Amino acid sequence: MSGLVVIGASYAGVQVALSARDAGYAEPVTVVGEEKSLPYQRPPLSKDFLLNEVREPQLILRDDAFFKSNRIDLVLGQRAVEIDRQAKQVALAGGARLDFDSLVIATGSRARRILVPGAELDGICYLRSLTDACDLKGRLEQANEIVVVGGGFIGLEVAASAAKLGNKVTVIEAASRLLERAVSTIVSRFLLDAHARAGVDVRLGETVVAMTGHDGRIAEVVLGSGTRLRADLVVVGIGVIANDELASTAGLKCCNGIVVNEHGSTEVPGIYAAGDCANHYNRFADEWIRMESVQHAQDQGRVAGLAIAGSHERYDSVPRFWSDQYDLKLQIVGLSGRSDQVVTRGSVEDGRFSVFHYRQGRLVAADSINRPGDQMVARRLIAAGISPAPEQAGDCSLDIKSLLKADEKTVA
Ligand SMILES: Cc1cc2nc3c(=O)[nH]c(=O)nc-3n(C[C@H](O)[C@H](O)[C@H](O)COP(=O)(O)OP(=O)(O)OC[C@H]3O[C@@H](n4cnc5c(N)ncnc54)[C@H](O)[C@@H]3O)c2cc1C
Repeated sequence: MSGLVVIGASYAGVQVALSARDAGYAEPVTVVGEEKSLPYQRPPLSKDFLLNEVREPQLILRDDAFFKSNRIDLVLGQRAVEIDRQAKQVALAGGARLDFDSLVIATGSRARRILVPGAELDGICYLRSLTDACDLKGRLEQANEIVVVGGGFIGLEVAASAAKLGNKVTVIEAASRLLERAVSTIVSRFLLDAHARAGVDVRLGETVVAMTGHDGRIAEVVLGSGTRLRADLVVVGIGVIANDELASTAGLKCCNGIVVNEHGSTEVPGIYAAGDCANHYNRFADEWIRMESVQHAQDQGRVAGLAIAGSHERYDSVPRFWSDQYDLKLQIVGLSGRSDQVVTRGSVEDGRFSVFHYRQGRLVAADSINRPGDQMVARRLIAAGISPAPEQAGDCSLDIKSLLKADEKTVA
């Protein structure tokens, strides 16, 4: 029995299956996932789940009955180990082989490991899956002194959660500011202050060079500067790596992820990829990129599902990210890399502001703290290629929605 086989049962994989069905795909649909649990939400794992504000059942994306009613066959707790392009089959670790007409690889990404002496000690944790989060939650209850390696989204969210739980937290970040590649210096500075207020000690421009232990358990983190920090728990958040090995071994083109076109299709007809594991040309970035966000996984999964059902739509979503730390909602729309001008709207002191990024006069991104309305408008502006003058974007006396009426001739 052929049909559609999807490898990876998370945001991208589930979306592919649902979108294909919604568009009228009538053949069998099988989604294979190596994790045992039903597909679940990852973002709360570093936030509400660690704080016990959300429990495991509330994380589930869709229940069993939903998949059954959409005739989507979930094969969970099974790892796909090989793609045979000639035979059009996927081999599972248990020995089963699944025939496919169309295949989608939605294998996501995994946490990058830290490679320093002592990195294998007990008490050094990563956070990618529900299993990791359950383990980390248990350890947080026992811990006192926590070192978080990495001042990116995951590191800062874990730091905020751990601090809220009453732990002593130190964050080690190699760059000179937090979230360097994602937000403006203004937002970096604002977040640094927020963490300091919560008692989190953030060390910028520092690297971890070793970890030492007692009886196999973490005891100290050694920094490049020579500083030694006591730690009974270390959480490493230094980025992720695309799970593209299955694809590259099958001869599919990979370059920091599986290379796909605007429909999520690889160079091989009938084989697609979507989500964290895929690399695509993004017109908003004007380069080939691999994105790591729920919005991206779902939107790219959707176009792949539609294409498989014969209904072609281009992937052309404005990138969006969010992060919750303490009572702060950070939202980002667009990609601010290579921006050459920024303008602030709102009040940094009051903790409600947005930073609009311009590149050669063109609006390319906006970072907002607790200003969701600005995000909605910025998304529409960027999607339409409308660039209001920076003075207008920064002028709070102007209704933000009026910017949508900016003259389209200002488009660069
Ligand atoms: C703690 C945490 C917090 C986050 N917070 C946010 C946030 O606030 N906002 C945001 O936008 N994004 C956030 N993200 C990122 C977001 O979760 C990812 O971008 C998103 O999950 C990507 O979805 P995906 O379907 O591409 O891949 P994944 O969610 O990584 O899923 C891939 C699935 O494929 C499975 N798999 C891999 N290889 C195989 C194989 N060979 N056989 C079978 N199954 C396989 C994996 O086990 C996994 O279940 C967060 C991520 C984490 C870990």
